[in-house]
Amino acid sequence: MNRQREVAGAGRMQPWSMTVDRFIDHAARWHADREIVSFRDDEKVERTSYAALRADASRLSHALLTDGIVPGDRVATLAMNGRGHLAAWYGIAGIGAVCHTLNPRMSEDQLAWIVDHAQDRLLFADGAFAQTALGLARRCPSLARIVWLSPPHGVEESAGPSIEVYSQGQPADCRWGAFDEELAAGLCYTSGTTGNPKGVLYSHRSNVLHTLITVQPDAFGLSALDTIMPIVPMYHANAWGLAFAAPAVGAKLVLPGARLDGRTLYDRMRREGVTFAAAVPTAWLGLLDYMESGGGALPDLRRIVVGGAAMTEQLLRRFDALGIEAIAAWGMTELSPVGGVSTATPAVAAMAADERISFRLKQGRVPFGVDMRIADEADRELPRDGRAPGALQMRGPAVAAGYFRLDESPLTADGFLRTGDIATIDPQGYVKITDRAKDIIKSGGEWISSLEIETLASLCPGVATATVIGVPHPRWDERPLLLLVARPGAAIDIEGVRDELTRKLPKWWVPDSIETIDELPLGSTGKVDKAALRNQRSSKGEA
Ligand code: AMP
Repeated sequence: MNRQREVAGAGRMQPWSMTVDRFIDHAARWHADREIVSFRDDEKVERTSYAALRADASRLSHALLTDGIVPGDRVATLAMNGRGHLAAWYGIAGIGAVCHTLNPRMSEDQLAWIVDHAQDRLLFADGAFAQTALGLARRCPSLARIVWLSPPHGVEESAGPSIEVYSQGQPADCRWGAFDEELAAGLCYTSGTTGNPKGVLYSHRSNVLHTLITVQPDAFGLSALDTIMPIVPMYHANAWGLAFAAPAVGAKLVLPGARLDGRTLYDRMRREGVTFAAAVPTAWLGLLDYMESGGGALPDLRRIVVGGAAMTEQLLRRFDALGIEAIAAWGMTELSPVGGVSTATPAVAAMAADERISFRLKQGRVPFGVDMRIADEADRELPRDGRAPGALQMRGPAVAAGYFRLDESPLTADGFLRTGDIATIDPQGYVKITDRAKDIIKSGGEWISSLEIETLASLCPGVATATVIGVPHPRWDERPLLLLVARPGAAIDIEGVRDELTRKLPKWWVPDSIETIDELPLGSTGKVDKAALRNQRSSKGEA
């Protein structure tokens, strides 16, 4: 849409709506042969280029139009990072439909709720997730069709066409864009707060601006010389924007597929000459273990981003010893997702290496395009003294203003997003997250809802109250601990509770430890004081 208005004194610049198809158009025109390497779950390696990806995505766009998909329709994906997923992502958004990335690590029940809420019309799925995809197609009337991104495992061929068959015969040159940049381009549900998952609805404009924000030297610092591997999945807040940033700068893109163990990551990074990669700490630990146990070096790998959970000093020092710069980044799905990146200011750069580490371990400082503050209970800004903690609040053109089909506002009266994180900000501008106000646990970079576990556990025989807290864990960052208080005179069968949770929840949600406790600390409002419980546990050395 032409954003130029009849305003006295207006500038006279060209209208150029910021829509995400621009990334692929740019890469196909100026970096046409730059490679995209994709590792499929059937071990096939696919090599393509930005020019070929543009043609694939165009064919897909035409197929979607033929299927009656119109601007604003939600089209879901259930897939790891791969070539087909990328073609679907651009093919969907290019025609003004909304690419809704589903998280395959959620249970079928949770996904069915989300698909129903989003009213997704089609589903593009990796063959490895065939059972879940078929379950969703049966349960969710809005889904008219499944298209397979790789051969489905253990199901009939008739369950849906492959992506190749679906787009066959369609023209390879779709005219994309030509709609308002405020139109929605992507949808991603987060369980990062209490209650049901909430949909963050990114606009074309917010995604384009977020890309410009993250490629800056003081953020991810990406260029045409890079070979980028987003290990973080596309369903985890748009792979932190890397599927936009790579074509924007003309970097080679390596899509690792489903196998993310240390050895596989190492082999793929080494073979493809990866210079930049991003992942949660758990994935990095696997790579480090493999490299240190004689796996070898990665001479091309210069910078990695560690996000989704806090980077530990041990992780940072292990990467330093290998000559790889580990940069901590903090963000949330609601921020598109980058909030802060721990790159140096002049004062920090001038410090001795050991002193610098305390800054490198913080969650980072804001690049241009993101603003933050810490605030008291009345949303008044607190000093940036590095000591007083406050509620972390964010603002910017790539920060959510609300959730999809939900009235409740996450914003303060003056327009800052409440993150649910508690943090300090130091005089240098670095934020340090000190606690989480939201009752939710992050294990290996993925959310576990304490509420869901508590609800199920409290229905078990003999249970009066059930409380779940996150306890630190060396590999998964956090794991759930379930504390049960028995009804007067009743006994609790802990194994019975475990069986019930195992039946109803994703396996990795089931608490490693379930304990009975006589009473729980209560806060001023009579609710269980989880912060006090967490403190008790960490001082008892539960980690
Ligand atoms: P998500 O929406 O899944 O990306 O999760 C966002 C939440 O993850 C944040 O609000 C934080 O609580 C947590 N988080 C993300 N990155 C970091 C980090 N670098 N350090 C500590 N916590 C983090």
